[in-house]
Amino acid sequence: MKIGVIGGGQLGRMLALAGTPMGMQFIFLDPAADACAAAVGAHICADYNDHEHLRQLADQVDLVTFEFENVPAETVAFLSQYVPVFPCADALRVARDRLNEKTLFQQLQIPVAPFAAIESQVELDRAIQSIGLPAVLKTRTLGYDGKGQKVLRTAADVTDAFAELGSVPSILETFVSFTGEVSLLAVRSRHGEIRAYPLVHNTHEQGILRLSLPSHNHALQTLAETYVTSVLEHLDYVGVLAFEFFEFNGGLFANEIAPRVHNSGHWTIEGAECSQFENHLRAVTGLPLGSTTKLGESAMINFIGTVPEVDALAAIEDCHFHHYGKAFKKGRKVGHGTIRSQSADRMLQQLNKLKALV
Ligand code: AMP
Repeated sequence: MKIGVIGGGQLGRMLALAGTPMGMQFIFLDPAADACAAAVGAHICADYNDHEHLRQLADQVDLVTFEFENVPAETVAFLSQYVPVFPCADALRVARDRLNEKTLFQQLQIPVAPFAAIESQVELDRAIQSIGLPAVLKTRTLGYDGKGQKVLRTAADVTDAFAELGSVPSILETFVSFTGEVSLLAVRSRHGEIRAYPLVHNTHEQGILRLSLPSHNHALQTLAETYVTSVLEHLDYVGVLAFEFFEFNGGLFANEIAPRVHNSGHWTIEGAECSQFENHLRAVTGLPLGSTTKLGESAMINFIGTVPEVDALAAIEDCHFHHYGKAFKKGRKVGHGTIRSQSADRMLQQLNKLKALV
């Protein structure tokens, strides 16, 4: 089975590392000459709207999937003429646009923080009257890792905020004083089977995920599973979907979905019976899904900018480290480490050793 992947970063690389033992081969399409997934598959170096190269990819593979959702809708439509594409165009249309996303959540009666669509500074000024401050202004598309958004705390922050974000269609939402951020990863197969992983508690700094820990909140797990199931079924979704929430007042506000494998699920490589990467591939290729049951207790730390000394990482028992083979750069995810232990106490003990290196 040959799998085409749009995007050739670390998520694509980990997909191939999961799929290769199952006899799958991978071709990545990514405009970056140094795409790190090229180490584990073929690489077509081309833009996401380059029809000649998209056609070349489609002709060589059995299906196409994504490790990166910010591709033009037209790219998905073009590929779909020649080859099955998972998840479907509709899922990508929703997930790449914050207004579509929030509107869908409301339609499915999933709680969201109050929000308004913004197309101009005048609309922003008007929306502030109803939403109030503090609030967060976010571009509808192309935002990730905290990019394309601005927290507005005072009237002075509001002046020119629309222009500062590039005068592009945006949404304004209430700043949520959340008690925590959690994510639920779930997978739906081509036959409609759904499985969810344990809920994870995430810590971000400067908008970038730093640490994922098990949540152990059973009530929130059940709630999050209900929400993710309604989205998966509504979109007739196939593959892994990540759903990020704010924990607020004992319940959840939906923040966003990612139509792909996700950083907050990296712990599943060592910490679950079947990883998010293997389950995504099982889903899109029509295989039965694997168990999402956890093995012991796991936590994951991202390596941002640089990877700690490999000798020191290897010296920590229960630590599994991943080096993405990317050039080191400030603010860039270049690797991660997962601690998987038999007990929560031991996991936290070993995690402190890993934290000391990061
Ligand atoms: P996002 O790109 O929407 O995931 O936002 C990146 C990070 O900014 C989130 O993980 C939160 O830590 C923070 N953030 C985003 N939206 C809000 C909000 N409405 N209220 C408070 N913090 C937010």
